[in-house]
Amino acid sequence: MRKYVIMGVQGSGKGTQATMLADDFDLVQISVGDILRWQVQHHTKIGAQVRRIVAAGELVSDDLVGSLVRNRLELHDWNYGFIIDGFPRNRPQAEFFLESYDIDGVIHLELPDDEVRRRVLNRRLCTRCGMDYNLIAHRPKIEGRCDVCGGELATREDDAEHALEARLRDYHTKTNPVLELFRRKEFVISIDARPDKITVQRQIRTELGLPITRGPENRARDGRTS
Ligand code: AMP
Repeated sequence: MRKYVIMGVQGSGKGTQATMLADDFDLVQISVGDILRWQVQHHTKIGAQVRRIVAAGELVSDDLVGSLVRNRLELHDWNYGFIIDGFPRNRPQAEFFLESYDIDGVIHLELPDDEVRRRVLNRRLCTRCGMDYNLIAHRPKIEGRCDVCGGELATREDDAEHALEARLRDYHTKTNPVLELFRRKEFVISIDARPDKITVQRQIRTELGLPITRGPENRARDGRTS
């Protein structure tokens, strides 16, 4: 069982790195931002409560986010473990989390603010299938259209410049103290998030003591069939 938290400012590649780990090590990936965006898109009661807050790049209340995370983990579908992204984001959330779960590692992706701005302001998302693009590193073949489904590409509302500045401020004032708390109690690895995604993933695995490649032979050795 492996239980990880991945932390980092927006644009640091948390989602991408979490997916790469989750796919290879059969972890359940839990993204609080994705859960909240799903609620907004599906016009749920929670969606109506959080829509403006998420769009402005502000933090949703600790009680609400805490209960979303608790409910998700109570499904107990994480036989091999989980990786949680976007939580905890402040001290009360971290305290709730540390009281309830033992964590094996906290992955901290580090990225300077200038690079965050460059990446985030160039980020586009397919409005149909959710595929992520970046106008610098991963341009769509046809401008404004998704390569996979042809859907229209848009900017996430909270990637706009004023929302980004709010999120950067929040990150530095609220999320950094969480790292301090984790550093005292848990195993934190800090990783430079500037290189390409494969290099970053390698570094994460090296620091966590995980195999770099995970082919069928590793799975067989672990007694897994899939
Ligand atoms: P993300 O996709 O992680 O950047 O999250 C998108 C938005 O969801 C954030 O800007 C917040 O409005 C909200 N959000 C995500 N995680 C949390 C959290 N742990 N606490 C409060 N709000 C959150």
